Amino acid sequence: MYDYHLHTRYSMDSDAAVESMIQAAIDKGIKEIAVTDHIDYEFPNPGGNLWVVDMDDYLETLAQMQQKYRGQIVIRRGIELGIQESCLDRCLRFYEQYKRELDFIIASRHAIGGVDPYEVNLFQSNRRHQCYEEYFEAVASMVQLFPYASVYGHLDYLVRYDPGEEKYSYEEFAPLLDQILTQIIANGAGIELNTSGYRVGLGRPLPPWNIVQRYRELGGTILTTGSDAHSPEDVGLSMETCYQTLRSMGFTSISTFHERKAMAVPL
Ligand SMILES: [Zn+2]
Ligand SMILES: [Zn+2]
Repeated sequence: MYDYHLHTRYSMDSDAAVESMIQAAIDKGIKEIAVTDHIDYEFPNPGGNLWVVDMDDYLETLAQMQQKYRGQIVIRRGIELGIQESCLDRCLRFYEQYKRELDFIIASRHAIGGVDPYEVNLFQSNRRHQCYEEYFEAVASMVQLFPYASVYGHLDYLVRYDPGEEKYSYEEFAPLLDQILTQIIANGAGIELNTSGYRVGLGRPLPPWNIVQRYRELGGTILTTGSDAHSPEDVGLSMETCYQTLRSMGFTSISTFHERKAMAVPL
């Protein structure tokens, strides 16, 4: 198993020690992980906290962990960078400054219209279609404006906060979703299969299987798998199930990253 989306205490929303996440991964038989703490400039901060990472401290800790656990597990240096138009300059500066120090960059869209969907009920008063449309348009803008990601994270993130039964369908937004997937492929980047959907009771990964299938049809080959765990018990969650489904869909490999270059590992 390869868990390429993990948060630790360097993220504003986790207090897990880096070592506790590594130990959990080893216990669960995971071969390789990427630690991907949050940087999300200008993300709404109700507590006044900033979604930034002390990079010197972070990279130093990861280097120590790589040393300590050599031979037991491969640890990659990642980051999950939240992209918004309002702070695109800072995201690009971050990329230029740290691209040589990182193995893996997930670019994600969390805020929508400057709002945190976790804090605000966006879906009130029949705005379902509009919410998804705004979100996917924001994702389309991200993949255009920030082409440097290794993979783009949880492409339909908003679905986690949709209280309705129906959610959305690929067909409803097919041209927009195809545009996003085509641009990702043109960027030479990939998508992630984010298994947190199982954790929150959606019974599927983010994005859903038919979008993963569509990505493949359009020529996409780079795909990582990540639990998006913020605590040790969620490391590697539902990953085996997802590998089985990927195999049945015809995938023979998934991707890992080293120094921001994708490598295929057999499934
Ligand atoms: Zn995320
Ligand atoms: Zn995450």
